[in-house]
Amino acid sequence: MEKNHKGIVLVPSDFDGIDWIEKMAKSGLNTLGLHSGGGPGHDVLERLQFMKDGDFRHKMTQNGLDYEYEIHTSHVLIDHDLFAAKPEYFPAFYQNQERIPDGNWCVSNPEAMKLVVDNAVSLAKKLPATTHRYFFWGVDRAHRDWCHCPKCAHLNSADQALITANAIAERIHEADSMGKVCFLAYHNTLTGPSQVKPNKNVFLEFAPIRRCYYHALNDDKCAINRSHKEAFEKLLKIFDPTQAHILEYYMDSSLYDRNTLLPPVKPTFYPELFEEDVRYYTSLGIRSMTSFAVRQDGEYMALHGDKEFQMYAEILNKFL
Ligand SMILES: [Zn+2]
Ligand SMILES: [Zn+2]
Repeated sequence: MEKNHKGIVLVPSDFDGIDWIEKMAKSGLNTLGLHSGGGPGHDVLERLQFMKDGDFRHKMTQNGLDYEYEIHTSHVLIDHDLFAAKPEYFPAFYQNQERIPDGNWCVSNPEAMKLVVDNAVSLAKKLPATTHRYFFWGVDRAHRDWCHCPKCAHLNSADQALITANAIAERIHEADSMGKVCFLAYHNTLTGPSQVKPNKNVFLEFAPIRRCYYHALNDDKCAINRSHKEAFEKLLKIFDPTQAHILEYYMDSSLYDRNTLLPPVKPTFYPELFEEDVRYYTSLGIRSMTSFAVRQDGEYMALHGDKEFQMYAEILNKFL
């Protein structure tokens, strides 16, 4: 049986004033997700800083931690400077059919798709994952992202994200013989694909960024979570639950306040609701869960301590 994964996802500045590798290893959690931040159009390799270095990866391995990169790669997978010469490689906006210079790509354009897959394979070689899971997400926004050209118009955002994941999965073995590629269900891909089926090496990643943390995910009295639960259970009819990964926000200070000039705030975290969620997810066959913990840095720990993190780890350790 494959190993269960449980952990958190961090950006480089979260290591300011705290040794997260040591803290993770002591907590019994086993998987560290490495994130370069959100926002469209950033240079992933530059923003990952030390997180892409061999020394850092070696230290994680020595401490018994698995690692993987969870990154918005739209501008790595296709060079947006090509826009002037090859606008047809880029998505057509549904309102006027004009090409979008800073979104993803047209999944019906074979030349664009070849570039995307070539670049994904080469990125996977630069950022190997001990979990063999590759999380190469599109642009981080829910509009002006995917294509509505005449060839793509029948495909929803999730179909287009899955077409891309399938194409990368066909060749991920060139970088990692055990490699698998994620389909990210998040924002406007949460509803799932309508026309496309996953390649056998594509797994579901469920990241319900707009869910409610005052209620458990399976609390039918919460209208917000009810629609998330319905979407999730629909996705599990398409994707294998035992391969699926949950990326949550229980520990994510940055979800509540993105202003890094202000002190980090405590996330909304009720241990009993979290435990109910973990029970729910694992009852459906889920074996892999992490949460963003962005801005849980040294400043956060000095202000709020690590009680929530310790409870988070303790509860995950009961189930996974
Ligand atoms: Zn298109
Ligand atoms: Zn609610």
